[in-house]
Amino acid sequence: MPHIPFAQIDRSWSLFLDRDGVINERLPGAYVTHWGQFVFLPGVPSAMAHFRSRFGRMVVVTNQQGVGKGLMRPADLAAIHDRMSTELVAAGARLDGIYACPDLRDQPHNCRKPAPALGQQAQRDFPDIDFARTIMVGDTPGDLAFGRNLGMYTVWVSGTEAPPPTELYDLQVTGLAELAARLGATS
Ligand SMILES: [Mg+2]
Repeated sequence: MPHIPFAQIDRSWSLFLDRDGVINERLPGAYVTHWGQFVFLPGVPSAMAHFRSRFGRMVVVTNQQGVGKGLMRPADLAAIHDRMSTELVAAGARLDGIYACPDLRDQPHNCRKPAPALGQQAQRDFPDIDFARTIMVGDTPGDLAFGRNLGMYTVWVSGTEAPPPTELYDLQVTGLAELAARLGATS
């Protein structure tokens, strides 16, 4: 397993973040369908402000099949992401983009992680994203396999999910605040 070269990280690097279970609390077996259900995990906005100061690009990649299931409209998801972005900007943690896949899990050729579609979409928007200089942070095996499929370094946020196979991740942290501390943030 390669070590994450934290000392080399500068603005030529990109950070990809999963959403549920990484930025905000997961709702086990359910979907965040409105802003009232969205709760930032502890220390996340300030950790993301530190990431903003270190990485050239910072994007969110998120599977949201609640849309495909008809449990929320695309506009509901967009409203959640608008509010999340506004709160993050206020904390100094502007995102370059949010890439959400509304597809159902059993839909053929879907865009869901671990498929690389969301990463390719981000790279089309920001051709300076270099996957070999990208860290992917997620809480599920699908997130980590997505990162592996694109040649990224991977960070597993441990917590509510069962441990993924160790070959899928390069570093384990308890949350974004720990990752920011490992990157040298002083809070
Ligand atoms: Mg997640």
